[in-house]
Amino acid sequence: ALTAGIVGLPNVGKSTLFNAITKAGAEMANYPFATIDPNVGMVEVPDKRLDRIQELIPAKKIVPTTFEFTDIAGIVKGASKGEGLGNKFLENIRQVDAIVHVVRAFDDDNITHVTGKVDPVDDIQTINLELGIADLDAVNKRLGKVQRAAKGKDEEALAELAVLNKIKPVLEAGKPVRSIDFDEDEQKIVKGFFLLTSKPVLYVANVSEDDMADSTASKYFQQVKEFAESEGEQAIGIAAETEEEIAELDDADKADFLEAEGVEEPGLNKLIRASYKLLGLETFFTAGGKETKAWTYLKGTKAPQAAGIIHSDFERGFIRAEVMAFDDLDKLGSEQAVKEAGKLRVEGKEYVMSDGDIVNFRFNV
Ligand code: GDP
Repeated sequence: ALTAGIVGLPNVGKSTLFNAITKAGAEMANYPFATIDPNVGMVEVPDKRLDRIQELIPAKKIVPTTFEFTDIAGIVKGASKGEGLGNKFLENIRQVDAIVHVVRAFDDDNITHVTGKVDPVDDIQTINLELGIADLDAVNKRLGKVQRAAKGKDEEALAELAVLNKIKPVLEAGKPVRSIDFDEDEQKIVKGFFLLTSKPVLYVANVSEDDMADSTASKYFQQVKEFAESEGEQAIGIAAETEEEIAELDDADKADFLEAEGVEEPGLNKLIRASYKLLGLETFFTAGGKETKAWTYLKGTKAPQAAGIIHSDFERGFIRAEVMAFDDLDKLGSEQAVKEAGKLRVEGKEYVMSDGDIVNFRFNV
């Protein structure tokens, strides 16, 4: 399963955020694991479309989809030189599929900041520098090997060499690998390098409770946002400590608390949805009968493989998929109306799934 790793300097609120996530997840009705790695938290993906589908095509229950966050503890300056837990830290990041980069965006004299002052953009750059240095090391090592092989005119080696030579100057200029435009073939090669700065990133400013309802009121958040946008990335603000408190409340208290804060839903929901998207994940639904259920697939997945997510038999015996778009059901108000409008489609093996598809798979057993 794909996982998003929570990364940041010490004392910025990573554990607090991770606790909020796991507490929210611990309440999940269908918690899929009895024992789970303490650094891995499952979350439900909040999706209002489920309620609407349930309203129009009633089933016994609603089952949201889930995905994983991984808590990555302990980066310090010098991680790329193996200082402290440096190597382990970088290794842990290597194993996640996207990075949720948390920075401190709250003032609190009681909580020490590792560099002595709250400066979120400086914090981001400290970590990005470590990741960039580690990548440059990896690229240089790889270059040494590949250059030898490329002398023998090995085609694969030559292709790899070209990609490495494209990456190296970018890293040397202090920019991440994800800022480079690669064509499809190059992308495959880059994937094999497992470079840290090639992973998609979301910047999260941990703002104070006062700024919860409107992060843009925080000057720190503004700085993070500006930096993120300069890289073509997204930033969101979240009040981690408050989110942890909210996650502990029962539904009625939660609603009261959110109303008092002047927000519609926990900030955590925004973070979860943004991370889900960051990982390239999308949702299709099955409806009617026992469950109204959301399923996660990787963007670009075709119908038979999507069917296989439900059950391997569905993929093996795939015949066709009957599909309607959520938006059509929502607009037209009933399955019957969707049919009458000619918007219930029959799709075959080559159909690429689209976010919000409501699907009935037909298969041979
Ligand atoms: P980590 O080292 O990044 O995992 O940081 P922690 O989650 O352990 O947080 C460090 C300290 O900051 C703890 O004492 C938290 O209670 C506190 N903290 C975390 N988020 C906030 C926040 O939004 N506001 C304030 N005032 N304190 C926070």
